[in-house]
Amino acid sequence: MIGIYGGTFDPVHFGHLRTALEVSEIFELDEMRLIPCAQPAHKDLPVTSAEMRLAMLSQAIENHPQLSVDRRELDREGVSYMVDTLKSLRAELPDQSLLLFIGTDAFKGLSSWYQWPQLFDYAHIVVMTRPSYQLPELSAFLAAKLTDNKQSLNEKKAGCLSIHPVTQLDISATAIRAIFKQGLDPSFLLPECVIDTVRTHQLYID
Ligand code: ATP
Repeated sequence: MIGIYGGTFDPVHFGHLRTALEVSEIFELDEMRLIPCAQPAHKDLPVTSAEMRLAMLSQAIENHPQLSVDRRELDREGVSYMVDTLKSLRAELPDQSLLLFIGTDAFKGLSSWYQWPQLFDYAHIVVMTRPSYQLPELSAFLAAKLTDNKQSLNEKKAGCLSIHPVTQLDISATAIRAIFKQGLDPSFLLPECVIDTVRTHQLYID
């Protein structure tokens, strides 16, 4: 099973890294791919260049072979639609079970994603929730896909919805950018190597 974890990673932080590692262990993934987006569909453009965000992400996961970086969205023109990403991954990995991991905030806005029902043609979706978090009521379309059986995620290659609690650290890239801008110390929110890169290149100052 291959995990897919998309984001702007501007910059990558322990909120992303901890959940990515945790779900890769829980679901016994063969690989977890972190996929930085070029042009988010539902957010402002990232403030940092794609190559710099990619470099920070690569540094952050250097000693964690179960995590990898996939640059396909950066190599594609236009808005980074997840359905296109899944389609290209599926073409490369026809026999693998693909698991797209998203946070609860992203899940709440899922129905506004471009061609969102087609996501299930290419992958399962796993929603990472806070422990004891109550999801909003599911539509009939989503309720029919719901499973809490990890085995069926392995047996089928796509098409299921799973909800899973993970450790949620209350960290956001927005807050980290504000900390850098104010000249404060962001230690313990993101890896030291990423902090060094931000300082070397004077990112997030303006
Ligand atoms: P920003 O503050 O710039 O909006 P962000 O910190 O929310 O960024 P993104 O790169 O946009 O990070 O997030 C990508 C994915 O990571 C989303 O699925 C989101 O739910 C998840 N995520 C972000 N922060 C956390 C966190 N602290 N704990 C768990 N998951 C997180």
